[in-house]
Amino acid sequence: MNNQDKHTSEKKSSFGGFRRLVILGGGESGVGTALLGKQKGYEVFVSDKGEISKKYKEVLVHHNIDFEEKNHTESKVLQADVVMKSPGIPDKVALIQKLKESSIPVISEIEFAAQFTEATIIGITGSNGKTTTTMLLHHILKNAGLNVGVAGNIGDSFAQQVAENSYENYVLELSSFQLDGIEKFNSHIAILTNITPDHLDRYEYDFNNYIASKFRITKNQKATDYLIYDADDSAICNWLKEHTIKAKLVPFSIEKELEYGAFLKDNNIIININKDTFIMPLTALSIKGKHNTKNAMAATLAAQLLNVRRQNIKESLEDFEGAEHRLENVAKVRDVEYINDSKATNVNATFYALECMEKTTIWIVGGVDKGNDYNDLLPLVREKVKAIVCLGVDNEKIKNVFGNVVDIIVETAGAEEAVKVSHKLAERGEVVLLSPACASFDLFESYEDRGRQFKKAVRSL
Ligand code: ADP
Repeated sequence: MNNQDKHTSEKKSSFGGFRRLVILGGGESGVGTALLGKQKGYEVFVSDKGEISKKYKEVLVHHNIDFEEKNHTESKVLQADVVMKSPGIPDKVALIQKLKESSIPVISEIEFAAQFTEATIIGITGSNGKTTTTMLLHHILKNAGLNVGVAGNIGDSFAQQVAENSYENYVLELSSFQLDGIEKFNSHIAILTNITPDHLDRYEYDFNNYIASKFRITKNQKATDYLIYDADDSAICNWLKEHTIKAKLVPFSIEKELEYGAFLKDNNIIININKDTFIMPLTALSIKGKHNTKNAMAATLAAQLLNVRRQNIKESLEDFEGAEHRLENVAKVRDVEYINDSKATNVNATFYALECMEKTTIWIVGGVDKGNDYNDLLPLVREKVKAIVCLGVDNEKIKNVFGNVVDIIVETAGAEEAVKVSHKLAERGEVVLLSPACASFDLFESYEDRGRQFKKAVRSL
């Protein structure tokens, strides 16, 4: 073994005993990791190529944590024993490549944080439905009296919570970027909501790479762990046919009856695990639409595996309020309903939104297109959409695809204008749906900003 190899293997074998922790990215996950690292005795350095927000800078200063912004000083970064990279930084950037060439481990926040907690982890990933399922499961477990934290894109970072709390269970929303940076991280219960093309720019435009990334959630699972998954999803089922995984498979479906798992029958959700059957009428679910039925199945299965009483599950499914910007009912103005689904940033999410519209719809769509193929939406649009209100800088594709299907297509350049135009077009008994199928960065700061501006405009009609 030459010196370089020896150095590398020593580093790898002493995982958890690293001394210098460098954190790339001073956002929620970066600052959370810094706090946890400091608490665990690491020498911590945070480096952000952009500006670190005031809120996070104050935390770093308060905890005496060394940091830099608007620059990565390579010499300081390359001194690391371990690097935590924020999920937003792609692997292909030169600095990350350099770290890898120097055999310095580059991990994600969840990998770093998980080694310092004994809690039972329920990890939730998928292309759509992560936040909803995470919030719903957290709601069920909390109402059932479990000592449970929630993290991911929701609230404080996982790392910060591990530093500050001592939860016995965590429900974690996991993006593929977080999963790309794991080595030993494991979820006792993993949920894979679905897989449809998204973020392909980070996966060499190869859907298979993205699928493999999502399945990393099961990589460290053992025979005593569980993988709950959508058995109607062809990408998931094909992958499972070709690979063996150790965890026990727990499927759910809205298309077929299953011997084991969750399925639909006569408008009831039937949950059939642990040799006992739990029946829940669909009408009792507070969140509507086929996609939410799936999310409810996934959360219910996880709760049952954690031995939550049926009555508790039932009550929580009935009173869950849903997450903001996800098919959120905003208001009814002159008998026209306004729905905010600003979080629908891809075609699949919008598909489900349009599918559950029961009234003639004025559809607000557009923004930054991540390579959308709108053809899947054509039948639904033909059936339900009376007018399209474009809300984006470049609306050519939308006009081309839907021009022959919808008579009225209007272009707007802001939420207020889009709402006013929709208001004029809508007649009593109809619905105005913001479900953009696109990212928001051309006209808004974020999808939250887009959703909030939409709601504000509706409320001032
Ligand atoms: P994520 O956190 O994965 O982005 P969200 O729960 O925030 O998922 O929902 C994102 C969008 O996808 C919303 O428009 C929502 O209505 C839709 N959605 C929610 N659950 C599903 C699902 N299981 N399948 C498809 N679309 C879904």
